[in-house]
Amino acid sequence: MKLLEERILKDAAVRAGNVLKVDSFLNHQMDVKLFREMAEEWKRRFSGKKINKILTIEASGIGIAAIAAEVFDVPVVFAKKAKSINLDNDNYCTKIQSYTHVNMYDVIVSKKFLTKTDHVLIIDDFLANGCALMGLLELADKAGAVVEGIGIAIEKGFQKGGQEIRAKGIQLESLAIVEVMDDVTGEIVFR
Ligand code: 5GP
Repeated sequence: MKLLEERILKDAAVRAGNVLKVDSFLNHQMDVKLFREMAEEWKRRFSGKKINKILTIEASGIGIAAIAAEVFDVPVVFAKKAKSINLDNDNYCTKIQSYTHVNMYDVIVSKKFLTKTDHVLIIDDFLANGCALMGLLELADKAGAVVEGIGIAIEKGFQKGGQEIRAKGIQLESLAIVEVMDDVTGEIVFR
């Protein structure tokens, strides 16, 4: 998506550890007008799919997913990071490894808000190694919900997540796919 790629080139910074910093428009300060354009693009790309719910994960997926939910005219539910002590029978639960691999965390979604009647579009800000998405897929699977597709703002194509998700046969629509990023020169190249 040209608009998002141009914004990344204009405002993103490449940091050590393969981290793209986009906090001026995507995941700290949020450009909601851009989110709407992104949501309209997903709406076009998933036009053949019957979607009745959007699923994301806190925190940085929520803003994007909320705007997408308005465009798709469906409810949005976010998986919550939870303390193990609070896990109970009312929730589906899984463990996700953080992108930095420093820690694992528990995420939950209430059995009330994800069920076998749901046809879900998963939305998130980044796809890197795919740990967050695998966790969301597991929650949907536990609920018996059908995952109709996955919409990602920025996929880092040189990390393994995208390939693994596509190998599962799931429609994955990343609006910008970064193929190369260099934290010394600041160069960013899209697929
Ligand atoms: P994965 O689970 O696919 O390895 O990583 C996805 C999650 O890690 C995203 O939800 C995002 O919060 C975070 N993440 C991964 N790579 C980046 C990055 O380059 N920049 C930022 N800001 N977050 C990232």
